[in-house]
Amino acid sequence: MNKSYMRFLLLILSFTVVSGAAASDVMVRLFELQDCSIESLLDEGYDIATVNRTQNYVDIVIDESYLSTLESKAADIRVLPESWVRLLPENTDDAGYYLDPAETWAFWTDLAAVYPDLVQYPVTQGQSFQGRDIYSICITSSSGPSDKPAIFFNSLIHAREPATNSVLADFGLWLATEYNNDTMATIILDNSEIYFMPIVNPDGYEDNMTGGNMQRKNMNFTIPVPSSGIDLNRNYGYQWGYDDYGSSPNPYDETYRGSAAFSEPETQVIREFTNTIDPIGSMHYHSTGGMVIYSWNYVNQPTPHQSTFESWAAAMTAQNGYDYGRCGQLMYPSNGDACDWSYDNTEHQTCLSFGVEVDDNGFWGSQNDSTAIAEFCAECRFMNILLCMNLINLTGIEITTEDAGMGILSVTGISPNPVMNSLNFSASIPSGALEVTIFDLAGRRIDQFEVENLESGNCQLNWAVPASVPNGVYMLIVESGSQISGSRFTVLR
Ligand SMILES: [Zn+2]
Repeated sequence: MNKSYMRFLLLILSFTVVSGAAASDVMVRLFELQDCSIESLLDEGYDIATVNRTQNYVDIVIDESYLSTLESKAADIRVLPESWVRLLPENTDDAGYYLDPAETWAFWTDLAAVYPDLVQYPVTQGQSFQGRDIYSICITSSSGPSDKPAIFFNSLIHAREPATNSVLADFGLWLATEYNNDTMATIILDNSEIYFMPIVNPDGYEDNMTGGNMQRKNMNFTIPVPSSGIDLNRNYGYQWGYDDYGSSPNPYDETYRGSAAFSEPETQVIREFTNTIDPIGSMHYHSTGGMVIYSWNYVNQPTPHQSTFESWAAAMTAQNGYDYGRCGQLMYPSNGDACDWSYDNTEHQTCLSFGVEVDDNGFWGSQNDSTAIAEFCAECRFMNILLCMNLINLTGIEITTEDAGMGILSVTGISPNPVMNSLNFSASIPSGALEVTIFDLAGRRIDQFEVENLESGNCQLNWAVPASVPNGVYMLIVESGSQISGSRFTVLR
């Protein structure tokens, strides 16, 4: 075989194999599906970018030349801006306002240099298929307990979702700069170790910098020969290959799960890392669509932690309006994903893990819009803070004293927690008058009021949170006679 023929063959292969990288890809929004369903679109192998059941649309990535195959499938089909699927201009090795691989590394090493007491330098945890380092960063303070629980944030498991990397950088920066300034940053770093793994799929991300742009999977094109890579977020070991729904045995599908659970070096790295740090919670970042997702994802059924997942997700999305639920409720079930494996306690303790779909403009749509990036980072920062606060406040502090002559005084049912404007709670009281005091964690009195002429039994009380009270953790103390009771809560706006 002569050399030029060989090169020609490789060229042909590279075009057919790397299905996600064609420069003719477009993203289209299908409003009101007709004569088809999410299920049938998946069956036909369409690359579904996101599903919005509330607004009744599906975003699909497709080669422009196949656009006509969608014609009859929806009432209204719109082609979304080119920037949503492509870095422009092409092949400039520049991710615009997103962080490219070199910028990501520089960001975290600079942060470690500026805040050496808080931010550890990136540590390599293993290598990708093509041999690139997969690194993690730990942020914590030297204060607090010696054995702090870990909380794990990761991004770019899907290489075409650069918004996720920005969100992690933003949260790392906030933690480091706000420590000893913001009450919650201080509480979080004093009481937990926050781990970041910003680029889980470095090969795919590097490929996207130089003209790929739509590579979602890893760059292992050898299993079986050939494929267009393995979807790392279908390659995890919990219920891997449970069915072919949202997880495909076809090597060319964007949801191809690989030849076996944990067949890929990237998921092996995460597996070992997770089992080592043994986190109490984790956040797995994706884009796009504006959603918070929790298990189970392999089937549309609740876990034993459904009520916790649901109430936390409701609080997390109270400001940004993201949808929340299980994969099967929001989009479609999918097995072998990171959340299910992280939550399952076979290999490590139960980890309350959430998946987030950042509400970006398609995959690359904010490349020239630093304001949009700042906005979705702030939306996600609120969720990150809340998750950490909830995880380390899991049990809270409750004080109850008992006076044999008067019965028990107790405070229960603090809600919502965290609170924005109005805190409800109930007190079980012996009788008479009650004094309520709110303290911050430094012991300063924030507010105080008295309730009189109470009959014994359960009473419902309320505290309107003054606008001047900053975000943070507070103590509610109720006193009656010689008795005292209290509970901890969080203000988060
Ligand atoms: Zn994703």
